[in-house]
Amino acid sequence: MYDPKSLCADDFISHEEILATLAYAEENKNNKELIAQILEKARPRKEGSSTICAGLTHREASVLLACEDPEILGQIYALAEEIKLAYYGNRIVIFAPLYLSNYCINGCVYCPYHRKNKNIPRKKLSQEEVRQEVIALQDMGHKRLAIEAGEDPQNNPIEYILECIKTIYSIQHKNGAIRRVNVNIAATTVEEYRMLKEAGIGTYILFQETYHKESYLKLHPTGPKHDYNYHTEAMDRAMEGGIDDVGLGVLFGLELYKYEFAGLLMHAEHLEAVHGVGPHTISVPRIKHADDIDPSAFDNGISDEIFAKLCALIRIAVPYTGMIISTRESQAVREKVIRLGVSQISGASRTSVGGYTKEERPTDTEQFDVSDQRTLDEVIKWLMELGYIPSFCTACYREGRTGDRFMSLCKTGQIQNCCHPNALMTLKEYLMDYASEETRVVGEALIQAELSNIPKEQVRRIAKEHLEQIAEGIRDFRF
Ligand code: SAM
Repeated sequence: MYDPKSLCADDFISHEEILATLAYAEENKNNKELIAQILEKARPRKEGSSTICAGLTHREASVLLACEDPEILGQIYALAEEIKLAYYGNRIVIFAPLYLSNYCINGCVYCPYHRKNKNIPRKKLSQEEVRQEVIALQDMGHKRLAIEAGEDPQNNPIEYILECIKTIYSIQHKNGAIRRVNVNIAATTVEEYRMLKEAGIGTYILFQETYHKESYLKLHPTGPKHDYNYHTEAMDRAMEGGIDDVGLGVLFGLELYKYEFAGLLMHAEHLEAVHGVGPHTISVPRIKHADDIDPSAFDNGISDEIFAKLCALIRIAVPYTGMIISTRESQAVREKVIRLGVSQISGASRTSVGGYTKEERPTDTEQFDVSDQRTLDEVIKWLMELGYIPSFCTACYREGRTGDRFMSLCKTGQIQNCCHPNALMTLKEYLMDYASEETRVVGEALIQAELSNIPKEQVRRIAKEHLEQIAEGIRDFRF
């Protein structure tokens, strides 16, 4: 029976509730009055100095997803942009994935790391190789990583992951530093989540892949990941282990997108109901070509238009949740969805183990083909020319503003006095240490123009002072 407070996956991701939601959405997709009410509910409102967004339930958001009226789609996009601007301004957080190991004992049919794939060489980074990769990432200007590994208790036990995290945080090459390590590894125990927390990780990310249990079991025929309930309940264990920030995601293309969308929002509602705080981020990967994987074999692939609509509706339904898009998507798609609600993007990613120290693409251990192959400098310049502020900020988590403390910063509108100057200061570091001359010129002008958008006079003054100190060589200021 559907119960968002239950700790059993079959109850909080109830199949019957999803089917009832899809039927309700279909029945009401032309109900103009209801749709107008739903859009009105989601609109940002001012309460004193705060901007409040009510978000939407999975049922309400599913009605909007089902609606095909182009005029309403225009309203959905406009609202998504408004909410995005209210909470995230024009900042875009930058990160890179770091693949530690492609050893894997699972049988995920969409992933080239599946155990039976004999075509790809198996590789696991030594600590020296981790060091080389991190130096290469620092030399590009990255400050925030997401580490990735297959599931293999023998080759990639938790001790190995912890050792890699320690190595990553310890490397200081020139002015470089990795200040936040997010972790995307297989579902594990409360005890191991506690160890990750103690190692100082940022967000724990785990994609659900699909919320459709029957399909999930077929798509993960062998290995520990076959256990749907253990996988789906992982975020509850992570939070029990003390991890405040968790990141959800669906691999779009595996199942019907309307089903996945309802499941994803129900998962977010469950976390809110049980732990009092929703997901920190939601990722929206789409299935891609890879060695031994043909995306056309999965017949639920979605068009760029549907993809954009999904991004806009996630932004409206869960306004305080960051949204992540990777280099699986092309420059054109990224440009569209950044406007509609995406708040974090990866840049210059390599999805192979050891990919940052290898010379050329393509590499034979890539987890999936990368569509956006630009350098970080090109991505940064492109963002700035579109009017965005690329941010290398990692301050919230380092200041203990995680979980509900981050959410309250978001809700009270203080984000503009905090995240905005932090974005400018970390961008300045990037421009000083890593940017090409052309990018630096664009960036310096942007920083000057954006300083006036810091609301508090005192914060603006301190930010200006820090920017000057950064120009003199001092690093790592934050509000
Ligand atoms: N092994 C971990 C697990 O089982 O959750 C996580 C790491 S895995 C390297 C990261 C994610 O890549 C997976 O959760 C999956 O959604 C995604 N992925 C796998 N194969 C893919 C493909 N062919 N195209 C796009 N994304 C893919």
